Amino acid sequence: MNNTPLIVISLDALGYCDEEVYKQLPFLKSMIEKGTWIKKVESVYPTLTYPIHSSIVTGRYPIEHGVDNNLLVQAEKKAMDWYWDHSYISGDTILNNAHKKGLKIAAFSWPVSAKADIEFNVPEVSPNPEGGFIDHLKENGSGEYIDELQSVFGPFDSHDSQKQKDEWMANATAYTFEKHQPDITFLHLIDVDHQKHVYGASHFAVKDAIKELDDRLSRMFEKIAKVKSLDEINIILLSDHSQIDTAYPIRLNKMLADMNLVNVNEDGTVKEDWQAYFLTCGGSTALYTKEDNPKLVEEIKEKIESLNLEGIDKIFNTEEIQELKSSDSAKLWVEAKEGYVFDADAREFIESRNQEPGPRGNHGFLPSKEKNLAMAIFIGPAFKENSVIENEKIVDIAPTIDKIYNLDMKDMSGSVIDCLK
Ligand SMILES: [Zn+2]
Repeated sequence: MNNTPLIVISLDALGYCDEEVYKQLPFLKSMIEKGTWIKKVESVYPTLTYPIHSSIVTGRYPIEHGVDNNLLVQAEKKAMDWYWDHSYISGDTILNNAHKKGLKIAAFSWPVSAKADIEFNVPEVSPNPEGGFIDHLKENGSGEYIDELQSVFGPFDSHDSQKQKDEWMANATAYTFEKHQPDITFLHLIDVDHQKHVYGASHFAVKDAIKELDDRLSRMFEKIAKVKSLDEINIILLSDHSQIDTAYPIRLNKMLADMNLVNVNEDGTVKEDWQAYFLTCGGSTALYTKEDNPKLVEEIKEKIESLNLEGIDKIFNTEEIQELKSSDSAKLWVEAKEGYVFDADAREFIESRNQEPGPRGNHGFLPSKEKNLAMAIFIGPAFKENSVIENEKIVDIAPTIDKIYNLDMKDMSGSVIDCLK
């Protein structure tokens, strides 16, 4: 058994395209110099946070682990549920396998970890549940431990700014390491993603958020280093996707309404009797149908093609979706061009340049698009020093962790990265 603690930190939406910014910041620069730096990491399709984080802890593609979107297909709900629970992931996960091996695990704001069977869990959950947020958080995580953390750091408020929430989680991570020395720690930091959604992919607010991230990591590891030298910890810093600038909305559910396949509520959601529905992934969107009906799917595809929409890049049919390893239930997958974003609303227009912009940046686009590539840095006793790798795949992360810690992970699609000593 390898007794070196592992800390995995997801730097949500920090991309290859941010390299010129992040490689010059004091903490990240020192990590790059000490470890193995993977400059371009290709993620999975759709490039959404929940499918990708499920791939990070399984080494499998969305079609294989079953989390093919952030959202469940609940077309008639204004606020659909997310894939919150760890049990949505099918097959082995690092969390489950490490727990079975008797390893102590902590996870902070880690996607798809609600109700996971681990020791210290503050999962990412709905910010607006029925009943109080804190009770909901405690029910889905380690209740007593969340009380302890709140007595030290004050209440975790789901309506605080993303910067404040990241700070709370980083503090909780350092505190937990000092107090309990978990064998494996997962932390998800989100502010860079948030700023890119609000301002676009390369605004100065994004650069500021990356600098703040570097500072937050530096302060967190300073505290951790008081308990254990960083040379004795395996650290994986990685991102899930980047973002691409978006401005103009496309509403394919309006097209389905025009085809009489959905009935639309006043607020733009669809009624329960929908026959087909496009679930948005931001830069792409997936078609689901109530009944299996290949002829209807073909009609919908032909209808989209006949509209000659400016913002559509590609349409993937059911077979191609399976080749992309995205989903075994989506029937079509439509990819937007840079500048365009799919929204769920089924009213008013199919494509428009005359709307107030929604998010100025988004992901969900194909993982191979250069502006959407992720990054990773590995540092610690297990990893090669001063090493640079140009290209890797996100599904290779779990096999690499499995190799170091012997977690007996089965049926992984990725392979071990050439970063081990
Ligand atoms: Zn993300």
